[in-house]
This record gives sequence, C-alpha cells and structure tokens, in this order.
Amino acid sequence: MKRSPVFLSLFLLLLAINPLQSRSFDQWFEDGAMRIDLVFSGTASESSYALEGLRKEPFFSGSKHVMIDPFDYGDHKFEVRDAISGDLIFSQTYCTLFREWQTTSEAESVRRAFSHVLRFPWPKGSVKVDVYDRDKKGIFQLAWSGNFDPESIFADPTLARVYETADLEIHGDPEEKVDILFMAEGYSENEMEKFMEDAKRSMEYIFSEEPFKSKRESFNVRVVKSAGPDSGTDIPGEHIWKNTVMNSSFYTFGIERYMTTPDYRSVCDVAANAHYDQLYILVNTDKYGGGGIYNFYSISAADNRESRAVVIHEFGHAFAGLGDEYFNSSVAYNDYFPLDVEPWNPNLTTLVDFGAKWKNSIKKGVPVPTPPEEKFAGTIGVYEGGGYVAKGVYRPMIDCRMHTNDAAFCPVCSAAIERMIQRHTGR
Ligand SMILES: [Zn+2]
Repeated sequence: MKRSPVFLSLFLLLLAINPLQSRSFDQWFEDGAMRIDLVFSGTASESSYALEGLRKEPFFSGSKHVMIDPFDYGDHKFEVRDAISGDLIFSQTYCTLFREWQTTSEAESVRRAFSHVLRFPWPKGSVKVDVYDRDKKGIFQLAWSGNFDPESIFADPTLARVYETADLEIHGDPEEKVDILFMAEGYSENEMEKFMEDAKRSMEYIFSEEPFKSKRESFNVRVVKSAGPDSGTDIPGEHIWKNTVMNSSFYTFGIERYMTTPDYRSVCDVAANAHYDQLYILVNTDKYGGGGIYNFYSISAADNRESRAVVIHEFGHAFAGLGDEYFNSSVAYNDYFPLDVEPWNPNLTTLVDFGAKWKNSIKKGVPVPTPPEEKFAGTIGVYEGGGYVAKGVYRPMIDCRMHTNDAAFCPVCSAAIERMIQRHTGR
C-alpha cells in the first residue's frame, strides 16, 4: 500500500512543532505508571467524573519521544502538566464505552456510571491532570481536573490481580514498539493452553493483513494468562451468565453481536501485569461478536468462523481510531455523528471540513461526492453512506475492511494505521 506523502508530511510537521521533542523523558518521568481511577457517570445530556483511587503500576510502554498525542482523535483527551511550571508533559486522546452509551435511548431516561482509568508515566514531581470531553460541536471542553503528588502515601503500588504473562513475539524495547497485550477472558485454569493457541492465531490474523503485515517488526505481542472461574461469557438474551474476570457480555446496548465490558477497571487491573499500548480481550466463545474502542480496548470471540475479519476490524477501531464505514446494520446509537460537525475519525467525513481529511488523495476528474459506480471501484473518492447512516456521512472507497469487512483496508485507513504505528515507533 502506498504511503500518502501528504499524511506523512503533516505528521512530521506535528512532530516538528511539538515543544517536547527537545526535552528528555527523564526530565519529567521515571519508570512505572501513575494510574488514576475515576467514576464517569451521567445521562444523555450531562456527565461528571469523581476520583476513586490512585495506583502505582510497574510498567509504562509508550514512546519516550512522542509524549504529546499528535492526533486530534477521540471523544476524550487528558493532559498532564508539571504542577509548578504548568508545562504540558503528556497527553493522550481516547474513547470510552460510556460515551457510546450516552447516544443510546436508555441514556435519555436512566443515569449510569462506568469506571474510567487514566495512565501516564510515573512523574518525578507533582502534576495537574485535566480531562477534556468533546462537546456536540466537536470541541474539547475541560470536564475534570486533579492534582497528584508522586510522594502520596495513598498511591497503591500493589497489583490488584496477579497473573502469569508470556511473550508471543518481541521485536524491541516497549517504548519503541506498538505493544499488544492479549488478555484471557472466560477461560478457566485448565484452558490456558487453548488460550495460548487462540492468542497466537489472533496475532497471526492481524499480521496477515496490510499494512500490519509489512510492519510486523514494529510490534511486540504478549499475553496475560487471566484465568477465571467460568468458561465463556454472558449472553443475556439467552439467559446465560458467567463469572468471568473482566465481566464481558454480549447484548451491549441491546445489540446481540456487540460484546464489550463496562468494567474497565478490572480490564486495567489485569493489564497491569505486562507492558502494553493496546489491549486485546480474547473471549472464549464461538458466538459471533466483538467491539473496538479507540485507545480503550479491542474485544472479540476467539472461536467464531468470522473471527479473522472481526479481530482485524476491531483492532482498526481501537488502534487507529477508524470509524465504521457501514450504514446498513442495526446499531443502538442516535445521531452518533452530527451532520454539522466533521467527525474526528480519519476515514469518515461529513464534508464540513473535508480539507482536513483525504481531499488531497483524490485524483483529478473524480467527482465529490463520488457515485458508487463500477468505474470508480478501487478509486479513492467520497462515497455517501458510513458512520451508521446512509445520508450525510461519507467514506473514502466503495469497499473497505471498515465497510463490509470482506475487503482489505482502503488506502485512507491504511495511511491512518501507518501514521499510528509511526506515532509509537518514531523519534
Ligand atoms: Zn477505509
């Protein structure tokens, strides 16, 4: 797949203007991670955060050269500032399941709470942490702030849950690679061999697809053997309930195939045993389903015959912030992409600010919007239909891994994945 020179130069520009590039990681941080546990609660129209606890974790695996997130992605962003100078020393964009829930009909009448976790390298001095939520116009608004002292006696240094880990494939130091961690969910103690086989197979699924295939050496892959009491996962629609480590379930927001867990705190407790940039929850079931949330986690069934397609598709969401390019499946969301706001996802546009997207990749003579005709098959254009609606949201190609899930990633999605790999591995 050809790398887009426009995207690459934009990325290099972002790196060049990043004031932190000349500073050393060692000036602000040391080994380990500061983890702040929050409770995120609200309804469709309002939300708030409350502090639950502070932990000191043994590993932080992100880049030591790119500590300010270069992407304007996600529904949320948090920033870490040195408490004395006010200097911005770390930031991260991400999404949450809670934010998806806020667009469901249930959120119109019920108030709910989900766990929420912030992680960044362990600071040497006191820091101020600011959480921003994107508003309906797509602008980040300050939602919560807290001050944290690395000398605090309340930073719990223990692992909440201790599990054995193993390496599947290591190509270099964590801070210079994309570190994927496969986590066992719904596997009993005597199914750990099966989990290892399932994790290896899932890893090979990701590396069988471009652009991951050509970039395999940019990744490290590990597993955490998080065995639990029961085998399988919750299927509420069939009255099946299991006692599992991370509380996963089908029927999220009433959609049978949407398997997630709202228990992000347990997910992070399991993950703390190993290095990771991306979490992949592998669920011991053959039932079709899964989910992927940007810089949150990917989750999918280990044993379904469609698992290869699902694993790659969900990782596209969670790793590169890719949006769904389909519009003909049932989803639970209302107005997920407001048509008067440019979505932040790199592969969707409402044409409100198309110049910020793949406009420069469109060849002369290709009409905007582009009719989905045979002569434009394989051509980058602007095809109407995407983001769960047939009208007003546009995608870059007639077909893509994020559209029907039968095709490869389109060039726009591929370029977004390559930029994200560069974000983790580049200097
Ligand atoms: Zn695409």
